[in-house]
Amino acid sequence: MPVRLAGKNASPYARLGNLKVLYLKLKSEFGFLDWWPGETPDKILIGAVLTQNTAWKNVEKAISNLEKAGMLSVCAIAGAENKTIEAEIRPSGFYRQKAAHLKGICMHIEENGGLSRFFRKDAHELRLELMALNGIGNETADSILLYAAGKPVFVIDAYTKRIMSRVYGISERLGYLSLQQIITNGIEKSIPLYKDFHAQLVELAKRYCRKKPLCGECPLRGFCLYANSSRA
Ligand code: SF4
Repeated sequence: MPVRLAGKNASPYARLGNLKVLYLKLKSEFGFLDWWPGETPDKILIGAVLTQNTAWKNVEKAISNLEKAGMLSVCAIAGAENKTIEAEIRPSGFYRQKAAHLKGICMHIEENGGLSRFFRKDAHELRLELMALNGIGNETADSILLYAAGKPVFVIDAYTKRIMSRVYGISERLGYLSLQQIITNGIEKSIPLYKDFHAQLVELAKRYCRKKPLCGECPLRGFCLYANSSRA
């Protein structure tokens, strides 16, 4: 029997009480997704910067180039010439800008005692420091905080906004931090849960909740306002 949200007329905030149910439904469909298993914090941080405005397969090529060149670390990038970084990360697109940003971020970290020391700061302080660096916005900062530094910070991306809008009727124009707060108020504070929930939402968006959604096959069709409205 499908698990249903509270009545269709309930506010989005009341319906969000079912957020954990939604997560479990996705997990039972896709399994535990285990993003970045066994990867180094350096590699995760570099990948989080390179993935802006490009597909992940392009980032994988850039990361592979950096690895072969012995440059897949914050320390190595901080000490490299911009031209050298550009050549290795070219597949990730916007390579001149990304090389400059990456080098600036890595130099800042090295000048402040290296990555381990940098990540010892509390999440709030670290977020402010990351956000002050060129090339880091909300989503990149939170991806680094959660997946590289292991801080309990939920990552919001365009997929999250789309799914929250369609399933719960929350405006896609809602600000990043407001949506983040709504989601974290609806689930327990847990690093493994935050990591896997974000991964599940990305998987859902890629497989079913595309720009043109495939609601008939989607595991959330029993939950979703959009699927149960006349628009679907
Ligand atoms: S039912 Fe349709 S709109 Fe709702 S989450 Fe699934 S694919 Fe997206």
